[in-house]
Amino acid sequence: MDIPNIQVALVCLFCNAPLQGPEETKFSSGDLIKCTQCGELNDFDSVLEVAKEKGLEQAENVIKEQLQKEFKNIFKKTP
Ligand SMILES: [Zn+2]
Repeated sequence: MDIPNIQVALVCLFCNAPLQGPEETKFSSGDLIKCTQCGELNDFDSVLEVAKEKGLEQAENVIKEQLQKEFKNIFKKTP
């Protein structure tokens, strides 16, 4: 079973715009990330929490789909 890569973007908690700093910016706990769209400051920990939840949701859906496919294959093989 292949587990596809799941990419989760950090998004602004206020306007949902993707948050991005300069290329080499590394955010760490306690940082405030300024949204380029609305100018609000996002608490990095909260942003990460939201991203984590979304990631888990996506992973769950992907795995469910994969399992359904695998099961269909199994049923096809068994007479
Ligand atoms: Zn924003």
